[in-house]
Amino acid sequence: MGQPADTEIKDLFIIGGGINGCGIARDAAGRGLTVALAEMNDLASATSSASTKLFHGGLRYLEYFEFRLVREALIERETLLKAMPHISWPMRFVLPYHEDMRFEADTPTSKLLSFFMPWMKGRRPAWLIRLGLFLYDNLGGRKILPGTATLDLTGTREGDPLQERFVKAYEYSDCWVEDSRLVVLNARDAQTRGARIMTRTQVINATGENGIWRIETRNTETDELHTFHARMLVNAGGPWVGDIIQTKMRLNSREGVRLVRGSHIVTRKLYDHDKCYFFQGTDGRIVFAIPYETDFTLIGTTDAEHADPSVKPECTPEEQDYLLSFANQYFKRKLNRDDVVWSYSGVRPLYDGGASSATAATRDYTLKIDTSAGAPVLNIFGGKITTYRRLAESAMQKIGEHLPLPKGKWTAGVPLPGGNFPVNGVAALNSNLQSRFPFLTDFWAKRLVRAYGTEASQILGDAQKATDLGKDFGATLTEVEITWLMKNEYARTAEDVIWRRNKLGLHLTNEQTQDLDDWMTRHRQSTPTAAE
Ligand SMILES: Cc1cc2nc3c(=O)[nH]c(=O)nc-3n(C[C@H](O)[C@H](O)[C@H](O)COP(=O)(O)OP(=O)(O)OC[C@H]3O[C@@H](n4cnc5c(N)ncnc54)[C@H](O)[C@@H]3O)c2cc1C
Repeated sequence: MGQPADTEIKDLFIIGGGINGCGIARDAAGRGLTVALAEMNDLASATSSASTKLFHGGLRYLEYFEFRLVREALIERETLLKAMPHISWPMRFVLPYHEDMRFEADTPTSKLLSFFMPWMKGRRPAWLIRLGLFLYDNLGGRKILPGTATLDLTGTREGDPLQERFVKAYEYSDCWVEDSRLVVLNARDAQTRGARIMTRTQVINATGENGIWRIETRNTETDELHTFHARMLVNAGGPWVGDIIQTKMRLNSREGVRLVRGSHIVTRKLYDHDKCYFFQGTDGRIVFAIPYETDFTLIGTTDAEHADPSVKPECTPEEQDYLLSFANQYFKRKLNRDDVVWSYSGVRPLYDGGASSATAATRDYTLKIDTSAGAPVLNIFGGKITTYRRLAESAMQKIGEHLPLPKGKWTAGVPLPGGNFPVNGVAALNSNLQSRFPFLTDFWAKRLVRAYGTEASQILGDAQKATDLGKDFGATLTEVEITWLMKNEYARTAEDVIWRRNKLGLHLTNEQTQDLDDWMTRHRQSTPTAAE
């Protein structure tokens, strides 16, 4: 994977291949800037593959009066859905109501309520939830997603898995998104528009020289060093944004990041319908239970301070117990640690605005230009998966103050690779694929359509039978798909494939994973990658 440095001076050099770095790379390349992006591991290997995977307005942020963030995110949900109907889809959220539900004590709403209605003693009244849902329905100009409804849980499939004390619920809409695929598709589209995407490439040093950045990189597989030059730098290092400012650029900056770990657990499927649950705890926090990868349920998340970005976040036994006991307050079936089949954890890189608790720290983004090195760098703090495209547009506005932009905004509604079909077109795509390739099982066809959209048939080529797809690695993963992922989607290892390009890690045995990894290692040298 030796990647020669460019002699050309790029307009923009982006550090970080998470959703923010890749979203900015796509927007900038489409506006005619010359762009290079360096990611030290795999794309989306940090926070952007560890989210709850929702395009959401964030109902709970209304209690913090984060109206700007909520409105922007609500409007954005449908814009994104149209651009990627394969990897994103609408979901209904059932919010069971019980009068024990409490606020987190220091939200502006809870403070107001305890001042005017002290007898509520921190409880979240039903009228307030209805008011929140009314705002949620109306702040963001919904056209595709259905609005809020009130549900009687008695004798319904939504009420069935829940304890009998829950008789009433509210139901509202948000969207699901395959977070790590979103990142890869943005990177691919950026590359199609001329950006250079380099994975396994760590920025080890960046210095301003005569108004130009000199950037040194190290290939983390081969240790090769290279030098690049750029007019402007974007620091989209996520949890490492502070580390990059201090140890790679060595700038004297007061800006800080607050690292807040969030963990999820995965259990076998806990109920038989396709809606999610929004559970409110007696501690004022909320936790989602979401249908996941056909056979599983995803439960999360937590909020825990995380001191050091270099310490790999992991779901601690305490966090597991917290999530299990949260779910046990709602589901009839009692869960314990033996029910957990997988867990994952990520670190939110939040802007340090001095909030009292991790839960209260703002989820909004902050963009700061620093010119103290003699050349401009844009540092990115915070942000949501949901607002990545809007964040990229705001970033371009700031970048435009330092570089001429040949073109204006363009990304709203423009499909990502494979997403050029209608929002309600998945079923049709599925049946077309199955009639063209009759050997595909339902699970297989659906998985390919959800991952690759209109590109699924291109991957299968002119195969007549399953054996035409080469080696079978298990769980419907075949040689042609792996080769395609290595050539077009920057995949280098089994982990890249089974945890970030798809989630087949939930289905493969350790032996199958090892076999896949060995095969990829053997074929790495002979398969040209997207990054070359
Ligand atoms: C538990 C949890 C749940 C969440 N749920 C949601 C949700 O449901 N919906 C939503 O909208 N948002 C959600 N978020 C927020 C969202 O996931 C993050 O805001 C977003 O992923 C941050 O993306 P990023 O690109 O800034 O950071 P990252 O994805 O962490 O990317 C930064 C990248 O920079 C790379 N890097 C760092 N230093 C260097 C270097 N020196 N050289 C090269 N590369 C470097 C890293 O390897 C990393 O890949 C959630 C976050 C968490 C933690």
